[in-house]
Amino acid sequence: RQMIIVSACLAGMNTRYDGTNCGHPEIIELVASGKAIPLCPEQLGGLPTPRPAISFVDGDGNELIKETIGVRAIGADGVDYSKNLINGAMETLRIARMFNIKKAIMKEGSPSCGVFRVWVNSRKVEGCGATTALLKKTAIMIEAME
Ligand code: SF4
Repeated sequence: RQMIIVSACLAGMNTRYDGTNCGHPEIIELVASGKAIPLCPEQLGGLPTPRPAISFVDGDGNELIKETIGVRAIGADGVDYSKNLINGAMETLRIARMFNIKKAIMKEGSPSCGVFRVWVNSRKVEGCGATTALLKKTAIMIEAME
């Protein structure tokens, strides 16, 4: 059976920074029927829930995982969480490989899971989250969901 991975918050898990979820019935059903694995890269990267909202400075998740000078992921508390986002991306990829994942459905706008848009320098701009950036380097097909 071909498994897919989904952002845990889309599957109704309370993994978001504010302790809520953004569950979609169709994603919850994919997990309930054993077709999808819910993962939260930020929790896998060692962050607690709830946690400060995180956004990028001077570049998106792709720039962050390339370790472009100056690009960081900063919390609303001013703390640099770049390492957590990078570790969460690597853990997610590790799990994706274990299950031979070919497809992921990721939460749009998140600094880890965003696919087309993320917050950089307090603006929502074109770009992706750190985990999506790493998954994009593989053959895994990525879909975005709000
Ligand atoms: Fe959802 Fe991804 Fe944020 Fe975790 S890191 S709460 S899975 S959007």
